[in-house]
Amino acid sequence: MSIKWRLTALFIGMTGLSLLLFWVGESVRLAAGEQQINVGVVVLALCLPAGVVYLYVSQLSRRMEILHFATQRIARGDFGHIYLSDSTDELGQFTEELNSLSRHVERIVQNGTQEAHKMEAILAGMQEGVVAVDHMGQVVLVNAAAEKIFERRGTDVEFRYLLGLICNLELEQIVRNVLLGKNHGTFETHIAQKTVQSQVSPILSEKGQPRGAVIVIHDVTELRRLEQMRTEFVANVSHELRTPLTSIKGFVETLLDGAADEPSVRDRFLKIIQAETLRLQRLIEDLLTLAHFEGRENRVEEESLNVSYVHKAYEKIRPVIQSYAESKKVKLEIALLEDLPQVSMGEDLLSQLLLNLLENAVKYTTEGRVWLNVLAGQKYIQLEFGDTGCGIPEEILPRIFERFYRVDKGRSREQGGTGLGLSIVKHMVEDTGGKISVASQLGVGTVFTCELPRA
Ligand code: ADP
Repeated sequence: MSIKWRLTALFIGMTGLSLLLFWVGESVRLAAGEQQINVGVVVLALCLPAGVVYLYVSQLSRRMEILHFATQRIARGDFGHIYLSDSTDELGQFTEELNSLSRHVERIVQNGTQEAHKMEAILAGMQEGVVAVDHMGQVVLVNAAAEKIFERRGTDVEFRYLLGLICNLELEQIVRNVLLGKNHGTFETHIAQKTVQSQVSPILSEKGQPRGAVIVIHDVTELRRLEQMRTEFVANVSHELRTPLTSIKGFVETLLDGAADEPSVRDRFLKIIQAETLRLQRLIEDLLTLAHFEGRENRVEEESLNVSYVHKAYEKIRPVIQSYAESKKVKLEIALLEDLPQVSMGEDLLSQLLLNLLENAVKYTTEGRVWLNVLAGQKYIQLEFGDTGCGIPEEILPRIFERFYRVDKGRSREQGGTGLGLSIVKHMVEDTGGKISVASQLGVGTVFTCELPRA
C-alpha cells in the first residue's frame, strides 16, 4: 500500500480510536454519575494514537536514512545491495529501482575499468611513445615508451607540462600550434640525443575545436644511423672501386699512347694493371662475402652449425701463410694439438678466419714473430693470434672491426688490403655465437683473441 493511503488510514484509524476511547470514557463517567471529565481517559485518547503515529513516522524516517546512506555509498563506488525491511510502499519500490540503477552503474564502471586496463596494456606494449595533453598543454597521459624516449623513466617527478617532459622547445611549439587549430602532421627532431619522428594530432571536441593533442613518437635513431652507414658504405665502395679503376684506365691510355713500344715500360705498366685488377677482384670477393654474412643475419644456417677441427682448417691454408711469412722474413709459430675438440664452424669458414687473421699478423709485422695458440675451455675454444708488428693505436681499437676502416690507408692498400677482412672475421665469429677481441700496443704488437663455441 502506498504511503499516502497508509497515512490516511492511520489518521482515520487513530482519530476513530481516539473518539472511541473518549466516548467509552464519557459513557463510564456518565453511568457512574461523575461530574468531572476523566483526565486519564483524555490523555490516553490523545497519547495512544499519537504514539502509534510517532512509531510509524520514525520507521519511515529510518528507512529514508538507510536510503540516504545507500546513495552516498553508491556515489563512492560501493555497489552492494540495499536491503529495506518493507518493500511494498513507494520507498520499497524506490529501493528496487536504486538497486537496479546501482547494478547498471556498476556494469558501466566495470566496463570502463576494463577498457582503461586494455588501453593501458596497449599503450604499455607499444614501441611508439604516446603522450596526450589537454587544451592547456598539461600532460594527461604518458606511456612507458615515451618515458624511455625522453629518458624520464624512474624519475619520481610528475610531469604536468609538456615542456617538462620532452625538454624540446620545437616540439612544444608544434603542439601549441596544433592546440590553436593550426597545422598538424609529422615532424622530425632531436630529443635526448635521439632522433625522433613525432606525429601530432589534435583531439577535437564535438564542435570541431581542439580540446587536446596526441603525440605519437617513433625513435628513428637506429634507422637514421643505418641510413647514414649505408650512405657511407656506398661512398666507400665507390671510392675503393674508383681508385684502382682510375689507375688501370690511366696506364692503359698511356700504353695506347705509345708507351707499349718500350718493352720495359710496357711490362712495368702491365704489372701495375695486373696488381690493380687483383685488388679489384679481392675487393669484390670481400664485398660478396660480407653481403653473404649480413644477408644471413638472424638466420641459423646449416653452414654455421657445421663443425671442424682447427688443425685441419689450418692445414688447408698452411702453404699460403708459410710462404707469405717466409717472403716477409717473419717467424711463424703455430701450436696446434691434434686432440683439440671440434668448434661449431664449418671448415672452409674456419680456414678463411685463420687466413685473414694470420695474413694480417704477417702483413703488419716486419721481420718479427707471429704466433697462434689454441686453448680448449669448457664451452669455448680460444684462439690467440699474436704478432710483434707495428701495433694499433689504443684510441682506434674500437673502430678496427668497422668496414673499410684502416689505420694506415696507404700502407694497407700497398699490402693489398681491402679494409674488409676484420669485419668479415667478426661476422664469422659472432654468427656462431663466439666473441672476438683485440689488444694492442703501438710498436710492440697486436693480439686478436677469438672464442669459438665448442661443437
Ligand atoms: P686490411 O685488408 O686493410 O688489412 P682489415 O679489416 O683486415 O683490412 O684490417 C683493418 C685494419 O686493421 C688494417 O688496415 C690495419 O690497419 C689494422 N690491422 C689489422 N690487423 C692488424 C695487425 N695484426 N697489426 C696491426 N694492425 C692491424
